[in-house]
Amino acid sequence: VEEMIRKSEKLAVVGQLAAGVAHEIRNPLTSVKGFLKLIEEDTEATSNYFSIIHHELGRIDLIASELLVLAKPQAAQFALVNLNRLIEDVTVFLQPQALISNVEMVIHLHSSLPPVLCEENQLKQVFVNLIKNALDSMPRGGTVTITTSMARDQVRIVIQDTGIGMSEETIRHLGEPFYTTKGSGTGLGLMVTHRIIDRHGGRIFYNSALGKGTTVTVSFQSADDVDLKEPSVVHTGQLDIR
Ligand code: ADP
Repeated sequence: VEEMIRKSEKLAVVGQLAAGVAHEIRNPLTSVKGFLKLIEEDTEATSNYFSIIHHELGRIDLIASELLVLAKPQAAQFALVNLNRLIEDVTVFLQPQALISNVEMVIHLHSSLPPVLCEENQLKQVFVNLIKNALDSMPRGGTVTITTSMARDQVRIVIQDTGIGMSEETIRHLGEPFYTTKGSGTGLGLMVTHRIIDRHGGRIFYNSALGKGTTVTVSFQSADDVDLKEPSVVHTGQLDIR
């Protein structure tokens, strides 16, 4: 019975999500359709319409690709991963964006970090999303400090930025689909991030002060303490959002 309730809750969430997605996709699509009609009627001034069409189609693409991350886990492959290496990969990937926004990335890696049982690409997505948010919060430059450490049986990753920070209102909405304070944001990054962390039995905490910056702490059980014969251990666990 518990399992059935859990499943029906999941289905309800999926349904809500689908409704939200349909709504969000309809707005740019309506715009695209309208401008296409105008092109049909006025074949001379098409260039501006085309750029709007491209912009709106790009937005649909972005939303769809962020949601795709949620569709992938069915084929998830769990493996032992060193999160130091994963953080290095992700920061190399985001270095160009950091340079453009004049942000310095400082990385402190724990020298003997135990591995974590996880789906590597999904965890990469988590840290890409969190570090991107840190970069976005510092439009006039700053520092993002990424630290890996051990806390008892947990592997902990802390991402600290010197950005604009968040209001209590924003913190309350974190992870809600389509909640964004950015002009061109999708508000899907943290929803995806929280779901992946939840699926890994991990936790995420936010600590933020307006005008000072934000510290995000993510933790996972280290694989030293995971019973590999019982992978269900890694799928359960609660998500704590402060
Ligand atoms: P998006 O980046 O598309 O807005 P997210 O779900 O990743 O979507 O983030 C939702 C909102 O949370 C952002 O619009 C922003 O207001 C806030 N936020 C997340 N991370 C940070 C951060 N490090 N600093 C300031 N605000 C943040």
